[in-house]
Amino acid sequence: MKKLDRLLIRGVAQLVTLRGSGGPRRGPAMSDLGIVENGAMLIRDGIIEHVGPSHRIENLEGARDAEIVDATGSVVLPGFVDSHTHLVHAQPRLEEFPWRVAENAGAQPASSSRLRAQAQTVLHWMASHGATTVEAKSGPGLDEAGETRILRIINGLDASPAAVVPTLYSANAAPAEFAGNPDGYLKWRTAVLLPLVARRRLAQFADVVCRRGGFSLHEARVHLAAARSAGLKTKMHAGPDSIRGAVQLAVEMQAVSVDHLDGINSAEIEALAGSRTIATLIPGLSFHTGSEMRPPARALIDAGAAVALATGFDGVSCPSCSMPMTLSLACTMLRMTPAEAITAATINGAYALDCAARIGSLEPGKQGDFAILAVRDYRELPYYFGVQTITRVFRRGVEISPERK
Ligand SMILES: [Zn+2]
Repeated sequence: MKKLDRLLIRGVAQLVTLRGSGGPRRGPAMSDLGIVENGAMLIRDGIIEHVGPSHRIENLEGARDAEIVDATGSVVLPGFVDSHTHLVHAQPRLEEFPWRVAENAGAQPASSSRLRAQAQTVLHWMASHGATTVEAKSGPGLDEAGETRILRIINGLDASPAAVVPTLYSANAAPAEFAGNPDGYLKWRTAVLLPLVARRRLAQFADVVCRRGGFSLHEARVHLAAARSAGLKTKMHAGPDSIRGAVQLAVEMQAVSVDHLDGINSAEIEALAGSRTIATLIPGLSFHTGSEMRPPARALIDAGAAVALATGFDGVSCPSCSMPMTLSLACTMLRMTPAEAITAATINGAYALDCAARIGSLEPGKQGDFAILAVRDYRELPYYFGVQTITRVFRRGVEISPERK
């Protein structure tokens, strides 16, 4: 990787900036990509300084001796923000494919070095598919040593190409010491583990699953409140097996995002539409498991909810590292438009990680995180499903996909 102090990206057929007036994009605003035709971008010390038409940017004083990135005839997009992954994962269950629908489990017994190496490999795959920021959830560490071990692995992925945002993930599998006492286990996670993780700054988010056999609505409320008072931001998994009322609870507790949302009803759609909570959808899960139950992207967007897209990578039930494939599935299976899908995977993904002030769009003052595509029209990205149209990826103005050059 080469450090650049000034970088001029020029000749861009479509510079997809996602510039906007602030706040998550919803409704018709999800279709406004802020495209500059024949555009250019000047980056200084990893931060975007100027974005606009080539004839203006290339004549700026600072552009004269900048290092040139020739993007002639290409589309340039903000780096994808993959806001939901279970990055530290179990071995793939190849013998069960394609019938498995199990939760990510079994990571605990593997050695730390093996889990770290696997996670780094996946991060490289994600980065080569355009992701420059990736959220990563803990689990299934179960006990204190296990959970903090997984979070340390996540926090130690510094040398990786994409930035990693750690989340303490509370599912519902109790370790042996809490056998027969699931309520005691959930209380321990809230009263002991959560403040410990916050104190050691091992996570930025706490994510809770609210379903039968796991956190009840009341327990989830207590957990989310404890997370906030410990200084963590919050998320919730709300899938088809969630307890009714979980989505409304997440909205009421001002969770930054509620994720999955397969099969939610009109009251839940309405609750999300009237909130700042991001609705994060994972079409790859329906695709890989063959589930007919899908997140109602169209109804959410039409109602005015702010929708994000994530790979939902977990190594078992959704083993995709590709945001472009996620976008293709969002367009074909969820009936999102290519523009909505790009918005959901960039600026709204950044809002789902509460870091839209730094990333998610190509605007002055933000990080120089972007991908160059070997196509002339952004709609070709989801159109060519399963095809690697991304040729180069940069984070903070540094190329992170040199193996693809
Ligand atoms: Zn998940």
